[in-house]
Amino acid sequence: MSNECNLIKDILPLYVEDMVSTDTREFVSEHLEHCAKCHVEFERMRNSTKPIPDTDAEMVPLKKIKKGLFIKRLQTIFFTAILACTIVTVVFGILTSPKFFPYSDNLLNVMDRHNGNIIITFDKKVTGYSCIKEFNGETEVYRVNAWTTAWDLYSSNRGNQNVVIPSEGETKIQIFFTQNNGSEDVLIYGLNDKTQENIVTLPRQILMPYFILAFFALVILAVLRFLLRNKQAIIVWIDRTILFPISYMAAQLCTKGINFTTYSLQRDFCIIILVAILFYFAMLTGKVLYKAKKSDRCQRFTE
Ligand SMILES: [Zn+2]
Repeated sequence: MSNECNLIKDILPLYVEDMVSTDTREFVSEHLEHCAKCHVEFERMRNSTKPIPDTDAEMVPLKKIKKGLFIKRLQTIFFTAILACTIVTVVFGILTSPKFFPYSDNLLNVMDRHNGNIIITFDKKVTGYSCIKEFNGETEVYRVNAWTTAWDLYSSNRGNQNVVIPSEGETKIQIFFTQNNGSEDVLIYGLNDKTQENIVTLPRQILMPYFILAFFALVILAVLRFLLRNKQAIIVWIDRTILFPISYMAAQLCTKGINFTTYSLQRDFCIIILVAILFYFAMLTGKVLYKAKKSDRCQRFTE
């Protein structure tokens, strides 16, 4: 009997795969019926090669494939939508970035109405302005600037912009026009008492340190990733985190180029952060899609 068992053992792999002739199949089946030892071996082999029972074999993978396709389609839609949002935001950011006007005689007209209000009327080409109030001792100091945007050039004309500055007779008022191009601020209302002379409104450099910070975070995470490359659980988290500084840097380069100065910090920063968030999710989804595609290709290859 032992000889026959050895023979059966040799044939079993083919038998399990159903790659034997009818005669051989009958011979093996007959042996398995009365030999417990070979039957155990047969069960073990069958379970290891066919984890899914034959009856469901056709249904389950089909369902799985359908579900997988559905998820992949959703991810692709999400990825495309988020990429479209990013492009729209970047374009919107560039089109609406303020182009500041330097001072000229016909840019604005200051009127003292003697009813307590000072009115600054800008030329039609001005589509936006800001007016910041400060105190310099007893004097109220206003800093006004004016801009237009590429967007406003193509949109409908909104008429002249006005700034109304209330004045209460006794308080001294000085109004400066800030040129935002490195030139001196121009006094457009009030007495020149020499206390505010030669003031240049400088661009804020705050975007530079943030960029450097993001760069250092990227370097540190890259080093950590290299050092901990064998710890899969940590690598997953590093890979997710490393996308933050990458997103921020990409967002800054897309919206501001390599210009790290800004006269309108809040606006620029908001747009950078918004684009960075969009980039982050685009990259996260893109990575999932890329991985799925790669594993698809591997599967096809092994099959
Ligand atoms: Zn046997």
